[in-house]
This record gives sequence, C-alpha cells and structure tokens, in this order.
Amino acid sequence: MPFSQLGLPPALLNGVKAMGYTDPTPIQLRAIPVVLGGGDLIGSAQTGTGKTAAFALPVLARLGKHEARGPRVLVLEPTRELAAQVETAFRDFGRFTDLRATVVHGGVGYGRQRSEIQAGTDVVIATPGRLMDFLQERTLRLDALKILILDEVDRMLDMGFVKDVKKIIGMCPRERQTLFFSATIPPEIEDVARFALRNPARVEIGVARTVTQSVSHAFYPVSQIKKFDLLIALLEKTDFHSCLIFSRTKHGADKIARKLKAANHSVAVLHANRSQSQRVEALEGFKSGKYEVMVATDIAARGIDVAGVSHVINYDIPANPEDYVHRIGRTGRAQAVGDAFTLTTPEQAGEIRSIERFIGQKVPQLKLEGFNYHSAPSIGAAAPQRYVDPRRAQQQQRAPQGHSGGAHPRQFQAQAPHPAPQGQGHPARPRSGGLSRGTWHRR
Ligand code: AMP
Repeated sequence: MPFSQLGLPPALLNGVKAMGYTDPTPIQLRAIPVVLGGGDLIGSAQTGTGKTAAFALPVLARLGKHEARGPRVLVLEPTRELAAQVETAFRDFGRFTDLRATVVHGGVGYGRQRSEIQAGTDVVIATPGRLMDFLQERTLRLDALKILILDEVDRMLDMGFVKDVKKIIGMCPRERQTLFFSATIPPEIEDVARFALRNPARVEIGVARTVTQSVSHAFYPVSQIKKFDLLIALLEKTDFHSCLIFSRTKHGADKIARKLKAANHSVAVLHANRSQSQRVEALEGFKSGKYEVMVATDIAARGIDVAGVSHVINYDIPANPEDYVHRIGRTGRAQAVGDAFTLTTPEQAGEIRSIERFIGQKVPQLKLEGFNYHSAPSIGAAAPQRYVDPRRAQQQQRAPQGHSGGAHPRQFQAQAPHPAPQGQGHPARPRSGGLSRGTWHRR
C-alpha cells in the first residue's frame, strides 16, 4: 500500500515525498491508521524500522494547523541526540505545514528553548530532566496537551528516568492519546504502560532480539593486550567508509580515539562527558563524512540515525546482550547492508554465550588472516601510516549512502579476499542532516 492510501493529508504526503520515501515500512503501515484514529498504541520495534515516521506523520496530521495555546504534543526521549534527531524528523515531515516543533534537552543554555516555548509551539520533544525544569518554573504548561509519546521507554528506564517519567505522565491531562515505543517490553515496562495507556493497540515489528538480517556479524577473539593492534588491522583490511566503534567506558572511548588519531584516522568521539556542542559537532561531522570513524559509548547506540554506517566495531563486548542488538543495528539500517565485528577476550566466554542465547544464533568466531596474534603489542610504537585520499572523502560526501562493497567478515578467513558480494548496493537514501527545513519554523 502506498503512503497516499494511509489517510495522511497532502502537505504531509509532500513532506514524505521530499524525504525520498516511496513505500511505508511495516510499522508505518500498521501504526499510522491506529494513531490517525485516535487510539493508544504500544509499539515494539527495532530501531531502524521507521518508527519515528510511524508516530510523527499521523500525529502531525492530527494537529492540522499551528495553534498558539501551548504544546499539544509531547515526545519524551532518553538522550539529547535522539531528541534532536526526532525534532529534525518532525520538522522535515512538517515542512509544508505551519506547525512548530521545539526540542528541549540539557547540555545547552535555557534561553533559546525558553523563548521558543514562550512563542508558542505545537510539538515539544524533550529529555525528562530539562523538561522537568521548564515544568517546575512554569514556562511550560501541559494543559493543552492532546498526545503524549514515550519513545525508547526501556532505555529511559535503564537510564534511571522512571520517577521523572511517571511524574510527567501524571502532569498530562487524563484525556489524551498516548503512544508508547520500546524495543523490548519486560514486566516493569508493562507496568508503566498500564499506568499510562488505555486499551492500547499493539504493534510488534521485528523483535529486538534479532540482528537485522542485512548485517553480517562476527566475533574476533584476541588477547587484551593485542586488542588495539587488531582494531587497527581490521580497519586497514576493511574498505569502510564510515565506522562506528563502541567502547564500554568514556575513558576507554577517549583513549581509543587518541590512538586512532595517531594512526591517521579522522575520528569523532561521542560520550556523556563531552559538552553538548562537542556532541553535536561529532555527530554532524560523522554524518557529513568529515570523520570516517566515530568512537562512542552506548549513548550513541540507541536510535541514532546515521545513514550509511558501513561498519560497527565493538572494541568492548557490550555489557548486556540487548545492547549488542542495538549497537549492531547502527549499521544495515533500512535495507542497507553492513558489517559488525566484536573483539572478544578469552575471559568473555560467558558474555559471548549470553549474546548468542539472547539472539538465538551462534556468531562465527573468526581470525584475521595475516595478523600476528602472538607478537608483542605495538602500542606506543610508531603508528602505521594510512593514506587518506582527500578526494575519497569528498566523493563519499556526494555519493549516495551505500555499502562500499568492502570486506565481508568471512572474507578475512581467506588468503585472497573474494570479490565483494554482488547485488548488495542499497538504495540511495537522503542524508538526514542535509534536508531543507522548508517552512517549518524555528525561532
Ligand atoms: P527510524 O527507525 O525512525 O530511526 O528510521 C530509520 C531510518 O529509516 C531513517 O533514516 C529514516 O529516514 C528511514 N525511513 C523511515 N521510513 C522510511 C520509508 N518509508 N522509506 C525509506 N526510508 C525510511
């Protein structure tokens, strides 16, 4: 079924068209009619399934025109990056309407957010902490609220926002529509859902236990002291065009980034100790191709939408199996293909088993051909020189986001790499950062 038959108004269909979408994804097909009909909804969907549009489009349709009497929609997000990304989606879809959206999150000054709220906005996309500040100082009132959207609820609760989230739900008018999205719905999340929703329809798409089929993933066992050398060797053998590397700790992320820079990689770092402007710069630079590598903690794993991440490397195996799925979901998004490598050390057999149990499949354990696993680590030694062709970076910025035809994990087993698998080029998709904001207002 095309978008045009989902009951969305022409202005939004034009917004969808401008985004380059042709057909709705399964969650959009199932959720949009429910939301348009005014019903409550629990959606469990993997990130990368198109869930933002599944709620943003029908919600904008229900709003119709701008009204100055205070926000009618509140979207709660666990992280600043997600809040900013969802605000961009609202602006992109609503570019042919006069509706207004405002993002509210910590790490930046209050002034601009306060004046946008005071000027009258239709949609507020917020992280819980800063939202509570505005509610307490009564800059923001929720009297006119019609629709509450709780996104990435499992993450929000993991991050310790449960009290704030419940308080905010309690401050919303009882007569409202509530949409609830969570990758997984364990019992404690069911409790919050029972508290917040009335007779919700349930839409479950691609349970988060599965690794996106378009991602080829593998473990690379290595001793702790050779980990960084293996990382460098993997990057050298891989024809990646953008690689997201996960570290378990912020300190570890900084250390990896420092060493990668010394090895001539262009590197961005994203973690909670960085200032908001550093975080924005890192993400924007990674999206635009200025940085070929981004080193991040799990803060970046959830929902962050960077079109065309060709490779994910878990420098540290994630602390819980669910994060494995989310980290790996950063590549192979929306029909793209990607590769994901996880470096594992001998003492991590337990973690490996729990990931395999969680996703219900065995992950191949591979050795990188030609890598000397037994020599002394070269850390501190002169970094290998890596030629970075500036034209290549420019081409990547212009080229459609796609699989680089680079090495497939299995190729590392072979002495002479096989040619890149055919037919894996993925359809061109617009970069989320480069879209015009049209008439959607920002004051
Ligand atoms: P989300 O799960 O909302 O983070 O979306 C993941 C990615 O899929 C984003 O880059 C969206 O722009 C893209 N996307 C969402 N819906 C569609 C669609 N119907 N067709 C093509 N791409 C889409």
